[in-house]
Amino acid sequence: MESSICYLNGNYQALADTRVSVLDRGFIFGDAIYEVVPVFNGKPFRLPHHLDRLRASLAAALMDDPLSRSEWIELSDRLVAENGAGDQTLYIQVTRGVAPRDHVLASPVAQTVFAMSSPLQVPRDVSPIDAVTVEDQRWQRCDIKTTSLLPNVIARAQAAQRGAQEAILIRDGYVTEGAASNIFVVSGGRIKTPPLSPLILPGITRDLLVELDPRVAEEPVSVQELRNADEVWVTSSGRELVPVTRLDGDVVGNGTVGPVFLDTRAKYQAYKATR
Ligand code: PMP
Repeated sequence: MESSICYLNGNYQALADTRVSVLDRGFIFGDAIYEVVPVFNGKPFRLPHHLDRLRASLAAALMDDPLSRSEWIELSDRLVAENGAGDQTLYIQVTRGVAPRDHVLASPVAQTVFAMSSPLQVPRDVSPIDAVTVEDQRWQRCDIKTTSLLPNVIARAQAAQRGAQEAILIRDGYVTEGAASNIFVVSGGRIKTPPLSPLILPGITRDLLVELDPRVAEEPVSVQELRNADEVWVTSSGRELVPVTRLDGDVVGNGTVGPVFLDTRAKYQAYKATR
């Protein structure tokens, strides 16, 4: 397979030949922040929102933003062009840098700045998924988009073991989010998504749906409401909106893709077509 082009610390080069040190704090501590930006028709979608979230995550992690806004935009545009435009997934990662292993960084070092592109295939048709509920075992700052994703990886593996494609995380009887997505529920025509808090990632797709549809209420969703919902959806940049038609082995609502989902998806698609 032909290697894609990635970016590392100022250089554009073949991904297959790109290396970072084993002493990189991203490798040693998971001391790193990342972003995933969908690219449609060669254009990064909602890039300013992703760059704002990147900056917020870096600040919360007490890291500098290594590039200016215009440098991030230039990097994104160049990498997308180097990889043949079209639809892509742009992945960006910033680590605290390479240093002798010590929790505290004794003296300042250059941060590692890495970006790569991978194929993006958003399914044309709606493909419902199965989900399972899993205890949310993460920390108290899930709003920081860190590469330290072990609890998310475990939750996703548990879902896979149970034949499901997503884990819906539950903390103290309430839905937080999916292992790699945000959650929406519909009950009696009312759309709800858990409110923003340090316990969930402020998803760019979630925020867009809240912006596009004034019917969406940002309110806590209990496990009971999740189980009794007529519709459950997950959202993420890579998968857009996906209906969940089976939860913990039981059908959600009447087990088909719901009308509110289709209506909201149409709004999302219409917005996307104007970008
Ligand atoms: N929550 C988590 C934990 C995620 O990993 C993701 C995917 N990045 C999301 C929510 C959805 O966020 P976005 O819509 O920005 O992709």
